Amino acid sequence: MQAETKHKFDVDDPIFEVRNASVTFDMERGESKVMDSIDIDVDRGEILGVVGESGSGKSMFASALLDAVPKPGVLSGEIQYYPEDGEPVDLLDQSESEIKEIRWEEISMVFQGAMSSFNPTMTIGDHFEETLQAHGRDISEGMEYADELLSELYLEADQVLGSYPHELSGGMKQRALLALSLLLEPEVLVMDEPTAALDLLMQRSIIELIRDIGEERDLTIVFITHDLPLVANLADRIGVLYAFEFVEVGPAYDILTDSKHPYTRALLNSTPNLDTPREEMRPIEGKSPDPVNVPAGCSYHPRCPLSDENCVQNDPPFQSDDGDTDHQAKCHYIEQTRREIPLNLQEVEYSE
Ligand code: SF4
Repeated sequence: MQAETKHKFDVDDPIFEVRNASVTFDMERGESKVMDSIDIDVDRGEILGVVGESGSGKSMFASALLDAVPKPGVLSGEIQYYPEDGEPVDLLDQSESEIKEIRWEEISMVFQGAMSSFNPTMTIGDHFEETLQAHGRDISEGMEYADELLSELYLEADQVLGSYPHELSGGMKQRALLALSLLLEPEVLVMDEPTAALDLLMQRSIIELIRDIGEERDLTIVFITHDLPLVANLADRIGVLYAFEFVEVGPAYDILTDSKHPYTRALLNSTPNLDTPREEMRPIEGKSPDPVNVPAGCSYHPRCPLSDENCVQNDPPFQSDDGDTDHQAKCHYIEQTRREIPLNLQEVEYSE
């Protein structure tokens, strides 16, 4: 049985309203649903962390926000974008040229792996100029702004702009990519595992830069990661994805200290404290579901220690056990989850 309603996580001033958004691929062995009827709002100016294991649908959610789902994937549902000035935009109803304009100028994206985002035969400066040219911007004004952005990211602008990608370190390349993504002054930055290839220290310093730059520019940031400790100190809200749908959404602090879903608790308990390097995190037992064969009822039931016949038969609705509509989970047994799955987190370094 499907849940009749899904909570929409309404926010005060949405910049995105995502409704019933799904991505399907037709495969020989059946239809593969890699994003399943997602409903969520993104608040203007917030940092939304989207967390899940690999294969949970995180990257698909990022691509959907730019209507950039790789073919032959089919994105359905509705994604409304509300610019600061101007009329709302139905993202799934734009022509190819309209969506291309929106992609850099309004909603920009940093995908995983800066290394492959740059053309190795062009200097970093060429990439900046090409982007300005493609969007009809004034080159000299744009390059002045590029200098400013690179300096804010603690890069020597002249040196970086004159370099080829292979001449820069991983951290420098990632910061140059961040500057490039901000060149046309977008309102939204969607970041998909932007720091995954970097060492822990560089990740932390880039996270701090992202937070500062976001605050200064009133950016809305959607930060996608498998690394809950990494996003813990960055995000205002966190959405936890499991089996191609959100299973818990709430303020970051509440998710970290009082999570309501057994899967979120398992994720947190695989991280003894938030400074633990990823290599030391314990994996969660069991496998994430095959998109062609998602378990019926609650999709987490094969891995959940609290699962019973009700969970096997019935897909739980989003709900809260304490009237807190900002923090909800898709679980039949929230109270029991709190009681029977204690959080082992030793220390939460989080400032509200
Ligand atoms: S609904 Fe049941 S199986 Fe699903 S997370 Fe809750 S307790 Fe576990």
